[in-house]
Amino acid sequence: MSTTKGNKDVIRPVAGVSSGRAAVNIVDPDDFTADGNLAEYETMVRRQLELIGEDPDREGLLKTPSRVAKAQMWLTRGYGQTASEVIGDALFAEDHENMVMVRDIEMYSMCEHHMLPFFGKVHIAYIPNGKIVGLSKLPRVVEVFARRLQVQERLGEQIADALEAVLQPKGVGVVIEAVHLCMMMRGVEKQSSRTITSSMRGLFRDDSKTRSEFLRLAHSPTTY
Ligand SMILES: [Zn+2]
Repeated sequence: MSTTKGNKDVIRPVAGVSSGRAAVNIVDPDDFTADGNLAEYETMVRRQLELIGEDPDREGLLKTPSRVAKAQMWLTRGYGQTASEVIGDALFAEDHENMVMVRDIEMYSMCEHHMLPFFGKVHIAYIPNGKIVGLSKLPRVVEVFARRLQVQERLGEQIADALEAVLQPKGVGVVIEAVHLCMMMRGVEKQSSRTITSSMRGLFRDDSKTRSEFLRLAHSPTTY
């Protein structure tokens, strides 16, 4: 079964970045060693410490450049991954015609404007059109796109596009609720405001009943 045809989640080169990121699949950030750019990154973090008025040679900071470099590489590892890769062969022929939904998927990402975290919950639903995907794969698709520099709006669109390409469903909906540290820490907005975005495709966009059912399920309180 081909799952890559028409898939839009290809890695696009970022302007000014010539070296592509190697594909990585590392669960523990402390195990992260496989990136040739780490030494250069460490040098840059050392300079960053100087620029904010710190002494990179004081004891507490000695290993910080190395830790920061590894952490940042891990936090942006999605550049080396695609949705079709993480879904793999977990696609199954199935006649199920009603909505399939996984809600409250934990999401951690970083805004591309300040490189500060934003995090929250992702709710994903789709209506199958002959095939379904292993449920555990949906959080992994979220990871592929969340572990890059992002804006929340694009994150939802990319998740929806990827699922549409792989599953060719009758519709797909993605709702993201998140808080942004660049708003909270910098004190420019209300500290407790949440940002909610939705990306709808197919029946979720065209049929108000389907959309309402999805939004009702996404926002209803959990009962367990
Ligand atoms: Zn920001």
